[in-house]
Amino acid sequence: MLTEETKKSLENQQYGIAGRHSAVKTCTWTKKSIRNEGVCYKEQFYDIKAHRCMQITPSLSCCNRCIFCWRDLSAPTATEWSWKTDSPEEIVQKCLEEHRKLLIGFRGNEKANQEKLKEAFEPNQVAISLSGEPTFYPKISQLIRLLHRKKMTTFLVTNGQYPDVLERIEPPTQLYISIDAPNKELFQKIEQSAHPDAWQRFKRSLDIMKTMNCRTAARITLIKGINMEDMEGYKKLIEKAMPDYVEVKAYMFVGSSRQRLAIKNMPYHEEVREFSVKLASILPDYSIRDEKAESRVVLLARNKKE
Ligand code: SF4
Repeated sequence: MLTEETKKSLENQQYGIAGRHSAVKTCTWTKKSIRNEGVCYKEQFYDIKAHRCMQITPSLSCCNRCIFCWRDLSAPTATEWSWKTDSPEEIVQKCLEEHRKLLIGFRGNEKANQEKLKEAFEPNQVAISLSGEPTFYPKISQLIRLLHRKKMTTFLVTNGQYPDVLERIEPPTQLYISIDAPNKELFQKIEQSAHPDAWQRFKRSLDIMKTMNCRTAARITLIKGINMEDMEGYKKLIEKAMPDYVEVKAYMFVGSSRQRLAIKNMPYHEEVREFSVKLASILPDYSIRDEKAESRVVLLARNKKE
């Protein structure tokens, strides 16, 4: 899947390449937590431990080219999996090796909390959201099962382009579907998918999310001046999936997205909050539960039935 050139470019960005099509990268928040400089909003909202999190992908390839994506998009865009497939065991073993290699430098760092660092070498949370589309990997269910057997929690983020996979997937601890646009026209403009029927696939995945037997979340990435209108469109999509949580998050002007968007497209936290208040006001089953200004994110949670 990866040319030598792509591998080099990813390694220069501190990715650990784990086999033919997988990678691991130490999350900024894992580093911050090890230095006692704060934790990610998921630790605040969902009680995972950012310093014990391993951020991976089993598929560096994606079928979409989202305009706001911070990731390096040099890996191939594809709709069909045509590569030799690594086993879940190989992926987990190599990801752990690479993850530990990427953390080694903290041993000599006086700012590092050595107790936390020791725990960081034994991750118990896996964010399957690093890059690419994880449900594209043909053995995604076996991978999730293996991670759970190793007593790790799993947060899987999907763009919803493989509803057939989602329909029979091993439930992760928390399943995310990205909702980046309120309607078909904006969806095509923002996701730039290689699938001609991308909108239908996405909507079908939302229907499947409603039936999932695990915690579910929709993540809305707000791009100022592009997708912060059409509240009714977002309402329809959210009520299709009825997730436990809706994360409303600002687009961040980072990484390769800076070649496609401008800093003015990054909303302030107040604007994210304002959008979230309006959205919650038209979603009777949801209310605002929490927020983290530093990450420009607001959490809506589904009201528990009495
Ligand atoms: S849950 Fe996400 S943001 Fe938090 S440490 Fe893991 S990869 Fe980073």
